[in-house]
Amino acid sequence: MSINNLPWAMVYNPDEKKFEKTGFAHWDVSNGEVWVKIVYATICTSDLHTVSGRRSCAGPCILGHEIIGEVVACADVDDYYGHSLQLGDLVTWSVYAYDAQDEMAVKGIPQKSSQLYKYGHEVLDEDQIMSGGFGSHCLLKEGTSIFKLSNNFSYKVAAPLNCSHATVAGSLRLAGEIKGRNVLVIGAGMIGLSASAMAVESGARNVVTTDIDDERLNRSRDFGVDLVLSHHLSNEDLEIALTDIGGIDIVIDTSGSPDAIEKWISKMNIGGTAVLIGSVFTQRDIHLNAEKCVRNLWTIRGLHNYMPQDLAYAIDFMENNHQRYPFDSLVKNEFKLSDIELAFTQAHRGEDYRVGVYVDQP
Ligand SMILES: [Zn+2]
Repeated sequence: MSINNLPWAMVYNPDEKKFEKTGFAHWDVSNGEVWVKIVYATICTSDLHTVSGRRSCAGPCILGHEIIGEVVACADVDDYYGHSLQLGDLVTWSVYAYDAQDEMAVKGIPQKSSQLYKYGHEVLDEDQIMSGGFGSHCLLKEGTSIFKLSNNFSYKVAAPLNCSHATVAGSLRLAGEIKGRNVLVIGAGMIGLSASAMAVESGARNVVTTDIDDERLNRSRDFGVDLVLSHHLSNEDLEIALTDIGGIDIVIDTSGSPDAIEKWISKMNIGGTAVLIGSVFTQRDIHLNAEKCVRNLWTIRGLHNYMPQDLAYAIDFMENNHQRYPFDSLVKNEFKLSDIELAFTQAHRGEDYRVGVYVDQP
């Protein structure tokens, strides 16, 4: 059978730093598995970290984990809410599959289970399981939380749900009560814009954004931001702006910049909470004055991956708010899967919030 009739993927080889068109066999699903035809994927910043070498990758891999697909085979599997999946359902799913009996899952931290299976990250072994977004199909393993999607919003809006928006939902969960609080979001990329809009919809008193890119900062006003703080503001003007709104209660860092994290944690109000989600690459330690942390009753939390409930929250958020905020406009350039190298070249330029990838015929 030629590759034209078979599932295929653009497999990334980290040693040669390139993608290679590779054919796969159709998968016969066993109990608990779902075979999905991928309809759209977006290139996440962590995919860029992998290809640029900032994040390690052990071997050939099908990258891409911001994915949506259509169920083409499934063996008696329910979605997250307990409704049975049907052929043709448009779905998204948690970025990982886990074993509910695992010690970490029992502790309430399923995303750190010992046998975690992470879409878009698994090394291709002799089983040749399609597990990433930059292919024609993906096998969803037992222990994946699967969600049916409506056709209310576009693929461009839906694809980033299971990484960007779900992680943001998790960060707000960890931040605690948002209503009536001043929230500062560091970084006005896709995740920062999502955090801003979700904080607005959660009843934040003021949502403030900061970024080193003034153009992106201005764009954040379309996502409900009340105040933007340019990187170029003098310390004096910054203090005046913060005093005017009553300071910052919650910091959500999406930038992963140690400098920014140190700066903004040190400015938090008494009782402030900082949630760090951007630091997913090797970096230096941050400096924190422990006495200030103690006397100011600060809480500092980190989130990696997220909980399935966060993806549920993100999907509900998007169902209710996709018309209120221009998420659709954040994916401008789209490439066919065969041209994945071009898609990455475009994404590496840093001009796009997300680059879209759709499956073509090889
Ligand atoms: Zn991601």
